[in-house]
Amino acid sequence: MKSLWQDADAKACGNDLQLRVYTSRLLGRDKSLVLHGGGNTSVKIAEKNLFGAEEEVLYVKGSGWDLETIAEAGFAPVRLDHLKRLAALPALSDPEMVNQLVTHQTRAAAPVPSVEAILHAILPYRFVDHTHADAVVTVTNTADGEARIRAIYGDKVVVVPYVMPGFDLARLCAERFAAAAGPQTVGMVLLNHGIFSFGDTAQESYERMIALVGQAESYLQEHKAWHVSLPAAAPLPAAAVVRDLARLRADISAAAGAPMIVARHTGGKFLAFAQRGDVATLSQQGPATPDHVIRTKRLPLLGRDVKTYSEDYRAYFSAHEPQAKDRKTMLDPAPRVVLDPAFGLCAAGRSAQDAAIVADIYGHTVDIILGATALGGYRALPARDIFEVEYWDLEQAKLKKGGKPPAFAGEVALVTGAASGIGKACVDALMARGAAVVALDLQAAISTLSDKANFLGIQCDVADEAQLQAAIARAVEKFGCLDMLGLNAGIFPGGCRIEALPTADWQRVMRINLDANLVLMRECHPFLKLAPRGGRVVVIGSKNVPAPGPGAAAYSASKAALNQLARVAALEWGGDNIRINSLHPNAVFDTGIWTEEVLASRAKHYGLTVDEYKRNNVLKTEVTSRDVAELAAELCGPLFAKTTGAQIPVDGGNDRVI
Ligand code: ZN
Repeated sequence: MKSLWQDADAKACGNDLQLRVYTSRLLGRDKSLVLHGGGNTSVKIAEKNLFGAEEEVLYVKGSGWDLETIAEAGFAPVRLDHLKRLAALPALSDPEMVNQLVTHQTRAAAPVPSVEAILHAILPYRFVDHTHADAVVTVTNTADGEARIRAIYGDKVVVVPYVMPGFDLARLCAERFAAAAGPQTVGMVLLNHGIFSFGDTAQESYERMIALVGQAESYLQEHKAWHVSLPAAAPLPAAAVVRDLARLRADISAAAGAPMIVARHTGGKFLAFAQRGDVATLSQQGPATPDHVIRTKRLPLLGRDVKTYSEDYRAYFSAHEPQAKDRKTMLDPAPRVVLDPAFGLCAAGRSAQDAAIVADIYGHTVDIILGATALGGYRALPARDIFEVEYWDLEQAKLKKGGKPPAFAGEVALVTGAASGIGKACVDALMARGAAVVALDLQAAISTLSDKANFLGIQCDVADEAQLQAAIARAVEKFGCLDMLGLNAGIFPGGCRIEALPTADWQRVMRINLDANLVLMRECHPFLKLAPRGGRVVVIGSKNVPAPGPGAAAYSASKAALNQLARVAALEWGGDNIRINSLHPNAVFDTGIWTEEVLASRAKHYGLTVDEYKRNNVLKTEVTSRDVAELAAELCGPLFAKTTGAQIPVDGGNDRVI
């Protein structure tokens, strides 16, 4: 644990709020301190109000902001005086607490203040930092965690037993602090939760956090309980497990009641952890800190029996719900973490981003469990405490913040020829609808087309069967299955009449435009069949199917054959709930092959201006890649849920087709 403080960076900060932003980001950069929205920080600043009177304002992290990327706008300014009065109340309900926090801010557009705002208010220091540091949680999550914390810190920290976050925790902290704090106090440890540090300057508070967490790390190192390594295990190759993986994803989606992304992680500790003889004892106790429950659920699924897991989850809900203050609706009973000796770790989420967060959190959980085990035994909170946080309205509100999920949330699409033109536009259209997209292209640039969590670019020659199979296996390993296919890759060698057409050229066009699509469809069929909403295939055909032109025999014949292949697939695969539809675009000029010069020369050839040439159709409209891609995406959506085997022109109207 090292301080990342840089005097030069700090000097660039003009005031205490900017310094607060600076050190909050320093905390956020270390994933062993805070993860995905965890932790919070504050600063107390005296300000003049509209009437010239001075008042103290607590700038506390707003809900929905991440410490790593927080900005000044991410801090909610709440009147400190009011918070202190609230802290003195004998009781305060959660909804009223949130109401009080929100209605006593000095900026209407500020985010909702952290639920730990009152706790920050009662600590009599200008700067307060709070993290869920792995090292501290590792020590507290053991049978004698409290004694170990006292041995590490002596009277430097106030120790607070576990209480759920919110008003009661703030009250308890106030009591403990009043009873135990002295001039030597620099922090506060919340058992099974995390640690606070405080100080009069941003640097003091931040560096105290680093020092305190560093002490816990040293303690763990002395006890051989820090960075516990597991023997490396060799994972089964993706190809050997993808069908089972897709079945697991189908079961998880069915239990969740919606399509789910399931990502396999075989790296480092996951596989070795999943293969340990004592994995059941270690993993079936509960999360490292209660707020992880909304991401990971209380327990991972061991093995692949989703049905039994769901039944156990229902039993857990029925056992604890009656004790809740108000009635709760059960969340979906599907697991978010799966530990399987062949898979390693599988992380499930409604989006690739969510699944990545689950894997991140569980990675830290494994470290904490292994560390605590080395100290003598991992001890999580009882199920009842976890239930309280899982079904706490304020935690659930965090998840609902995103609103209604997009149309293709949790679904996976594969698009070929995806680096440019219609293929790239299809990637954009599908990602915009929430799908995870696997993009194949011959160009190496495909792998860096997007750095989003729901994108996987694979350089791949679609005419090479082995490369296609490997790409499909990678796709399923990354996202859990394939729900949609966009058959777009193709080549158009024009300008050659039949009497001069070399056999090799003809065969090359057939291999890429036709054969590759047969292989892709055949290899993807087992996955499309498992799609929770039914599989969908969109074929990017051509106007040349209904209206061929001279000089493009190979191209026109390949697209016509592909069209016939799609029609047969529609007949054969309907029973598997797979729909397949074709689009026939024409004269889409915003693609790689149409340079300004080529366009100008073609237009001249027909005696037209470039603009007339582009709009040379019945509707006199220009057809873009985006037009085709948007329709391709819609063909996969609910509007066309009852359509298969259709062929739709996207050509502005062509008199020969009509
Ligand atoms: Zn906390």
